[in-house]
Amino acid sequence: MKLLEVTRDQVKGKVGVIAIGSVEQHGPHLPMGTDSLMAEWLASQLESSYPEEVILFPTLTYGCSFEHGNQPFIGVSYINMINFLTDLAESTKRAGLLSLIIVNGHGGNESLLDVVRRQVNFANDKFKLYLFSMVGRDKGLFNVIDMHAGSVETSRMFFLKPSLVRMEKLKEIRDFSVKEGVFQTITTDKANPYGVINVGGDVQVDPKKGEESMRNAYADLESLFLRVKQSLAINEG
Ligand SMILES: [Zn+2]
Repeated sequence: MKLLEVTRDQVKGKVGVIAIGSVEQHGPHLPMGTDSLMAEWLASQLESSYPEEVILFPTLTYGCSFEHGNQPFIGVSYINMINFLTDLAESTKRAGLLSLIIVNGHGGNESLLDVVRRQVNFANDKFKLYLFSMVGRDKGLFNVIDMHAGSVETSRMFFLKPSLVRMEKLKEIRDFSVKEGVFQTITTDKANPYGVINVGGDVQVDPKKGEESMRNAYADLESLFLRVKQSLAINEG
């Protein structure tokens, strides 16, 4: 069921799932919403598989994207995001949901999500916040390391929405080198002039690998959900 469509009584006793991503540059060839669209696909798959048990929240498309420096992004500060998500989790609990799964599609959100998880979980005995992340997955899928807008993300997007991958723009990228320290001491615009962080070579597009990546991620999200269900059953005794 979808949060905006259910009645107040229907949210009680359910597991909430919310996709969170970013609105930020993904090179010249991928949409600004790449991370949000991927996370949203996973979260909605879970809801369609378990419509009676899962409440799908509207996607939180805005995230923390300061690692993009002077390249375009639309987002908020870490502290605002921490407070926003903590409030969201607390009101989710008060509304009667049993737990909340955050499906994160964006690397820049990872550290703050860990803070939110601790803040919520250590303050609550029964209601728990779970994180499922797309970040750092599929390292062996290509012979390059896609840290941002590279082979993995481009292939995933090609599987999800091929019309949103601008192949002609991909050809405009002439430099795939990545300077050291990206995401830690320097921003993506300083690490690569095109804002594509694909360490080890050019961007390869393989829709089959993109599909494999998304389907594997879904299988892992589903098993997290089943573990959450199991622990709720144990909680109830
Ligand atoms: Zn991304």
